Amino acid sequence: MSTKSAAAAAPRRRRGAAPAEPAPVALVAAPDPVADVPDLGPTGRPRRTFPEPPPVGEHGPARVLALCNQKGGVGKTTTTINLGAALAETGRRVLLVDLDPQGALSVGLGVNPMQLDRTVYDLLMERDVTAEDVMLKTAVAGMDLLPSNIDLSAAEVQLVNEVAREQTLRRVLEPVLDDYDVVLIDCQPSLGLLTVNALTAADGVVIPLECEYFALRGVALLLQTIEKIRERLNPRLEIEGLLATMYDARTLHGREVLARVVDAFGDRVFHTVISRTVRFPETTVAGEPITSYASSSTGATAYRELARELLARTVSA
Ligand code: ADP
Ligand code: MG
Repeated sequence: MSTKSAAAAAPRRRRGAAPAEPAPVALVAAPDPVADVPDLGPTGRPRRTFPEPPPVGEHGPARVLALCNQKGGVGKTTTTINLGAALAETGRRVLLVDLDPQGALSVGLGVNPMQLDRTVYDLLMERDVTAEDVMLKTAVAGMDLLPSNIDLSAAEVQLVNEVAREQTLRRVLEPVLDDYDVVLIDCQPSLGLLTVNALTAADGVVIPLECEYFALRGVALLLQTIEKIRERLNPRLEIEGLLATMYDARTLHGREVLARVVDAFGDRVFHTVISRTVRFPETTVAGEPITSYASSSTGATAYRELARELLARTVSA
């Protein structure tokens, strides 16, 4: 190395200035730049974990939740089955109500809807039929089902002529509410009279949203409907939460849709997010919840987390 280049490389110092202090030896480790950054969950908020819910001594009275979105294919039925099963695993007694004439909830629990003697239709339309008459036990301990089939589509029309037509479901469920901790009502993809009955019977609404374009389309109308029902028919009704479903963290699209949902609804969005996985369609074919079909899968874990989040909200509320 030549003298010239060494001189050029040395730091310039004004003549007469004191020599530069040697750099102090760091005695304390430099702060870890990552440690101060909060660990963000998929909804872009600090990640939350929810405690194992305490066991319940006595059962009831049930909190009634309607799974509602007039858009089809957003995960209402999947959430009803798997949230129900995850709640039952915590020792809660759970009643699922199939309020969709398609009967997908019943099929998803291994019931053949065409072979049913009595369904929710009979419960709504016939004075002498009780919830116990219609009720089926599911393969999940502590979880029962009020099943439906296509007969229920007639109820939408026939109920119109009934007295207190919006309160019919609440009236027929009331006698069994003390036997359960949670009732989940799987709504059909419409805001018709059956869904109005569900919202009138409910204490809270869970709104599943598929993480896809147009996820928010129609949500304003749903919220207006909820508001009207709260004012006119059911002052207890609350929005329990919006649930992001079919989320794909690998795509920018999925992350953007979820960010938009959180922008719009803030803390009403559940921290728990349900990822997209083929295990869910598989469970429908198997006719059982993912919590038993693939007990350690990410889908089962997510619904257990949702059950804990839901119970934590209810306890702290
Ligand atoms: P809805 O009751 O709102 O119409 P479903 O729960 O029936 O919606 O879901 C629609 C379809 O999407 C079903 O075939 C279901 O198996 C599938 N599905 C639901 N959730 C998921 C998920 N997280 N990942 C992949 N497929 C899903
Ligand atoms: Mg459905």
